Amino acid sequence: MHRDVERILINGEEIRERLDCVAKNLMAEFASDGLVVVILLKGALVFAADMCRRLPVTMTVECLNISSYHGNIKTSGKVEFLDRKMPEVEGKKVLIMDDILDTGLTMCAVSDALLELGASEVRSCVLLNKRKERAGMCEADFKAFDIDDEFVIGYGLDYQGRYRNLPYVGVMKQESI
Ligand code: 5GP
Ligand code: MG
Repeated sequence: MHRDVERILINGEEIRERLDCVAKNLMAEFASDGLVVVILLKGALVFAADMCRRLPVTMTVECLNISSYHGNIKTSGKVEFLDRKMPEVEGKKVLIMDDILDTGLTMCAVSDALLELGASEVRSCVLLNKRKERAGMCEADFKAFDIDDEFVIGYGLDYQGRYRNLPYVGVMKQESI
């Protein structure tokens, strides 16, 4: 375990098992070809790479650079689209993949933007869903794990750009923040 990690919340084995299960649910919904997967960078990088390889369907993959946390432990409350060009999704079925649903702001903003660009359908899939009230905010259509409302790192999730490579999801030591 990394020295800055207080405890492991979800280990690699548990992640693999749950991803197999969520992939089955996704395949039941997206069995027909022509899916566009939109990966929200950088947090969803690791999760999406593992998930896409579990979906034996013809798909294209797009990435969006989104920033709301700016490497910190709290959302700035503002979702920024950092790309100069948005993916072409007109008339397409889109599946957004993100690492974690916290306030839901990011997912709402991205989902709205893709519908605005003419996507025929937008669904969402997250690795982690924080258990909390999200009045008026969107929920994820597919989620691998529900977790308590605490700051987590690993398996793509960072603190100030670090720890994305940890093969598990963990809670940071208070003194390391
Ligand atoms: P939301 O817009 O739902 O509040 O936040 C979504 C984004 O905030 C996620 O894509 C993720 O990048 C970041 N985020 C939210 N909670 C956490 C957390 O516990 N740990 C880390 N590392 N990032 C988080
Ligand atoms: Mg993110």
